[in-house]
Amino acid sequence: MARAVGIDLGTTNSVIAAWEGGEASVVPNAEGARTTPSVVAFTENGERLVGQLARRQAILNPKGTIYSVKRFVGRRFEEVEEEAGQVTYDVVPDANGLARIKVRDKMYAPEEISALILRKLADDAGRQLGERVTEAVITVPAYFNDAQRTATRDAGKIAGLEVLRIINEPTAAALAYGMDKGQHETVLVFDLGGGTFDVSVLDVGDGVVEVRATAGDTHLGGDDFDRRIVDHLAEEFQKENGIDLRKDPQALQRLYEAAEKAKVELSSVSQTQVNLPFVTADANGPKHLTMTLMRSKFEQLTADLVERTMGPVRQAMSDAKVGADDVDEVILVGGSTRIPAVQALVRRLTGGKEPNMTVNPDEVVAVGAAIQAGVLKGEVSDVLLLDVTPLSLGVETQGGLMTKIVERNSTIPVRRSEVFSTATDNQPAVDVVVLQGERERAADNRVLGRFQLTGIRPAPRGEPQIEVVFDIDANGIVNVTARDKDTGAEQGITISESANLDTAEVERMVTEAERNRASDQQLRQEVDARNQLDSAAYQVERRLEELGDSAPPHERARAEMLVTEARQAVADQAPLDRVRELTGELQQVLAGLQAASTTSAAGGATAGDEAAGDDDVIDAEFDRK
Ligand code: AMP
Repeated sequence: MARAVGIDLGTTNSVIAAWEGGEASVVPNAEGARTTPSVVAFTENGERLVGQLARRQAILNPKGTIYSVKRFVGRRFEEVEEEAGQVTYDVVPDANGLARIKVRDKMYAPEEISALILRKLADDAGRQLGERVTEAVITVPAYFNDAQRTATRDAGKIAGLEVLRIINEPTAAALAYGMDKGQHETVLVFDLGGGTFDVSVLDVGDGVVEVRATAGDTHLGGDDFDRRIVDHLAEEFQKENGIDLRKDPQALQRLYEAAEKAKVELSSVSQTQVNLPFVTADANGPKHLTMTLMRSKFEQLTADLVERTMGPVRQAMSDAKVGADDVDEVILVGGSTRIPAVQALVRRLTGGKEPNMTVNPDEVVAVGAAIQAGVLKGEVSDVLLLDVTPLSLGVETQGGLMTKIVERNSTIPVRRSEVFSTATDNQPAVDVVVLQGERERAADNRVLGRFQLTGIRPAPRGEPQIEVVFDIDANGIVNVTARDKDTGAEQGITISESANLDTAEVERMVTEAERNRASDQQLRQEVDARNQLDSAAYQVERRLEELGDSAPPHERARAEMLVTEARQAVADQAPLDRVRELTGELQQVLAGLQAASTTSAAGGATAGDEAAGDDDVIDAEFDRK
């Protein structure tokens, strides 16, 4: 048996959770801990350690202990040069300029290090569950770009996992609280972990989670709080004993461990004892560190760190255009949100709202990811599928335009259809080009696939009715079919994973569309106008054919001249004014020719004209390739 899990692959700690017995719960690692430090160590004697064991020897093995590798995943060296200077191990560019980790002449891609962490999590969980773990949903920060998401996916692959989906950490947190199921709410996710701080404002409800804004500080977290305690302890010790413990790696490692322990204790008690026997020695013999730390002292030492969270919270709220009163729910994520002063500040910033923290803040992201894994595997049925089409889907139509059929942010599963027609007389086939994106010009969007519908009965342009259906199932798999309503001929394609586009890419495409909105609209107007002119010329031509000799000669001459001019204007992409002017003139001529028919020729408008004018049926025409 194989199992799907959710993994929170964090900067400082990682967590794995599985859907079991009707709920998602964290699976402890081989050491019995529910969180695993995201640390990998390569020791002098060739050993490879992952997790707590790696973390414990970090200070003694500064060059061979890789921590915070998430900061380098999917990044170019030039983007992270500053970060590279802040870690104890070597980060270097490879031949392509990508950030690489160098340990004793061996180069590692950051995703290889992440893969080692994922592998440990999956192996340990597999042993606990009694089933091999083969598939996973992995979370990433909402601000991760395409390259960072792809690299995270690759880390999963390197670890031998099939990555079912990459989802945003705040989205996972909202899922863990089941917020997707209720009515629409504005949710603020405050995530203060070991090394990073993220705030997100989400719009949640009806099975959909949308990240409206994110802000944060990539260098603020529990580690900073630890460092303040370390400095305080070391300074006090130095005052008494004249020895700086920070100069001795062994002592410093112990100081850090003691500081973190004290910090954690101070979240629930108001004072704690720090005891480090035999921490160092001088000529007079061994020295011990024994100190009492009050919560009030800790708060003094770290007040500025807590204050630093305010800016990003305000920023995210203002970007999402919400005030404190608009925030319906606050979710606390990350171990450091257990610090009472942090909680007090969050309450203050969100108008006194009581934050949600019934789901353990260290575990909430992994739990949400496991729920998503359960949904994707069909094991969770009472949860609405948390997904929307991140971008609009549509087809290419005449003049190289994108005609949207499924709008962006439609909840899936979804089925939409539209009827199109041919662009030329007796067109035997249409090319269906399936597009994804927000831009008006087909070429500016992403081509997901293409197919041809053949076997269309010869008919004037605009007459055949071709129904195009987009059907997106709960897994985001898109089925597109085109059917000739007359002959019943049908053709289609299946596109998998298209709805899985990375958020960063989605955002890029949406921003681009916004930036280009004015010029895109202009383009659409021009193409629409040209299509209209072309269509008017076509109708006049057909009318002339029908009338034959009964067309009054002077009207025929003028009509023919206008048709030629119109065709030229379309070919030359003439200015909009000229195109509209010609269309107006052609329409007048057509009206005259219609009148001519009632007097001089029996019959009337053709089926072709009717179809071409029926806006309910024909929204656009396929460009014929
Ligand atoms: P995360 O990366 O979300 O697991 O957060 C880890 C950080 O949370 C570390 O810096 C921990 O020291 C810190 N942390 C965990 N539990 C507590 C606690 N009870 N009080 C304060 N900080 C904590």
